[in-house]
Amino acid sequence: EQSGVEGQSFIIATDTTFAPFEMFQGGEVAGIDMDLLKAIADSQGFEFEVQSLGFQAALSAVTSGQADGVIAGMSITDERKQIFDFSDPYFDSGVQMAVAESNDDISSYDDLDGETVVAKSGSEGLAEAQKLSEEYGFTVKALDQSATMYESVKNGSAVAVFDDYPVLAYGIAQGNGLKVVTDKIPGGQYGFAVAKGENQALLEAFNTGLAELKESGQYDQILDTYLADPQ
Ligand code: GLN
Repeated sequence: EQSGVEGQSFIIATDTTFAPFEMFQGGEVAGIDMDLLKAIADSQGFEFEVQSLGFQAALSAVTSGQADGVIAGMSITDERKQIFDFSDPYFDSGVQMAVAESNDDISSYDDLDGETVVAKSGSEGLAEAQKLSEEYGFTVKALDQSATMYESVKNGSAVAVFDDYPVLAYGIAQGNGLKVVTDKIPGGQYGFAVAKGENQALLEAFNTGLAELKESGQYDQILDTYLADPQ
């Protein structure tokens, strides 16, 4: 079946690092988002160029028309739906808090009084941290990059990071020196997004391709590549 985007080429913006959804492997952008996009593009007959811009910058690139779409472990939220159109959800996620492995002082939000936590600029992790900050009396600092965020927790300039739990779990399994200490805050499914009212054929092709990947088992295969026994 011919898709409405056959032979077309699109610019797709993404985060710099949000492993295992996007990460650099041997100089190439890899990860769940990239593999899904590649498989969908193949089946729907379109081409794409990836721009690794950072999360907030990727969202801005799409709203300003510099990129056609964004795939960046981006949570589907009502607020974002006012400026983006989202694909069908492709992954269930949510936010959790992590601290340095060696930190035995912070084990709940109650221990955050007077402390500083970090989260990614423009992210749901940031929104959740900000929501809790007043009640628990802590300061929230927004950072653009995952690497900087994790580094500041390890070097003690922040006591905790609020980030998506599959990403925290992946990093921890890889030995990044952090541990999670709170329950998951439920909610937050990932979707591919385009600017509201724009690139509707691309969005449709993404949904068709995603449904096909789920049907064929390739979707599970891609997830397993990155999530089964991470090592
Ligand atoms: N899922 C989170 C959000 O959409 C974080 C995404 C990211 O850091 N790439 O806000």
